[in-house]
Amino acid sequence: MGIKPHIMNGVALITGSASGIGRAVAHVFVEEGCTRLILADLDDGGLRTVSDELKALNSDVQTCICICDVSSETDVQKMVDDGVQAFGAIHYAVNNAGVASRPRVKTHELEASAWDRVQNVNGRGAWLCERAEIRQMLKQEPSLTTRTGAPAQRGSIVNLASIFAFATQNTNGAYSSSKASVIGMTKTDAITYAQDGIRVNSVCPGSTLTPLGLKSGTYPADMTKPIPMGRLARSEEIAQGIVFLASERASFITGESLNIDGGSLSYYHF
Ligand code: NAD
Repeated sequence: MGIKPHIMNGVALITGSASGIGRAVAHVFVEEGCTRLILADLDDGGLRTVSDELKALNSDVQTCICICDVSSETDVQKMVDDGVQAFGAIHYAVNNAGVASRPRVKTHELEASAWDRVQNVNGRGAWLCERAEIRQMLKQEPSLTTRTGAPAQRGSIVNLASIFAFATQNTNGAYSSSKASVIGMTKTDAITYAQDGIRVNSVCPGSTLTPLGLKSGTYPADMTKPIPMGRLARSEEIAQGIVFLASERASFITGESLNIDGGSLSYYHF
């Protein structure tokens, strides 16, 4: 007689799921038993490819594909409405869509429009998504149960911050500020909705091999020097932490920010 694995049988919503970390998160949700996924991104073709990949992993998987700009209030509301129409609820939400600072220049050289672009997606976008998800979760009965006998919960939200919320480079102010705001929002909503059965946490990746880092040129020439483990993260390694925090296994964790960075933030290097 074996021990039954913990199955995540709620509905998952993942923004920015056409690529990189978001795509890996969708894969891990399916590996953990989740069969109903709301996939949101600007990239229609990328979402359809990811949807096909998930259905190849498990033929029971159903997806709701949402073309959504997370910085648009209308798009975000439509994403939640379409997801709820498809599956009736949202239990796990991963606010992952994000952009890098471009151009990489010092503050005195940075245009306000470049600052706004990063804040609009990473800060305002995450907030719009979180607000719409919380409004939906508050309407749901608590149904996420654990084997520990803890009270059932309504939902769980994980926001993508970054180690750049805590340590930075001299041309990364817009991005660092946007990710610091994600940490503040996470803590605020974690305490505000703690007794409503909604948990809110952040994950702070270090440098990860994804298109975002590579396209923006944010990785220095010797990218691995500040990383004690001597390599960049794989998207799947970040996704494991995200899905754990989203899951019922993390039922008493809220307001936390989990660094997944190969030891970078613990390392004073000179
Ligand atoms: P990625 O570029 O591979 O994926 C980001 C996805 O977000 C893309 O599919 C993109 O189309 C989508 N997106 C961008 N703007 C959007 C918008 N306005 N509305 C909807 N979708 C939008 O990047 P990634 O590396 O997988 O990044 C995922 C998250 O992880 C981001 O929030 C990023 O800031 C964070 N992060 C990444 C790293 C890294 O080194 N890659 C490190 C720390 C944090």
